[in-house]
Amino acid sequence: MEATILIVDDQKGVRLLLEELFTRDMWKVYLAANGQEAVKKTAQIKPDIILMDMKMPIMNGLEAAKAILTADKDQIIVMMTAYGEMDVVNKIIEAGVKKCIAKPFDIMLVRELMRDMVINTKIVS
Ligand SMILES: [Mg+2]
Repeated sequence: MEATILIVDDQKGVRLLLEELFTRDMWKVYLAANGQEAVKKTAQIKPDIILMDMKMPIMNGLEAAKAILTADKDQIIVMMTAYGEMDVVNKIIEAGVKKCIAKPFDIMLVRELMRDMVINTKIVS
């Protein structure tokens, strides 16, 4: 899979797990630890897809998604939300985020979802 993914999570363990998973599938993987870093890196890298945590210090996932989508409304973002954050899911989708997935997630499903979403956009565009 020749595609770039930006993984954004404040938990190092989550970043490393996802980095290993996508690197193994030959993705070009970039990491960010909070929303602010994600906004900056997105502008530099222009990743095919962003997999971003909702709850993070400095700038949360929703704030970061809004900033990213203001700069590029077509940027594909998938948000990771925890159970109990279901109230924000609507706001996240309204902001233009393509999909929300609940943590804890099955990494094999996440792997398939990311691949399908990037393949679909590449076919459409
Ligand atoms: Mg978090």
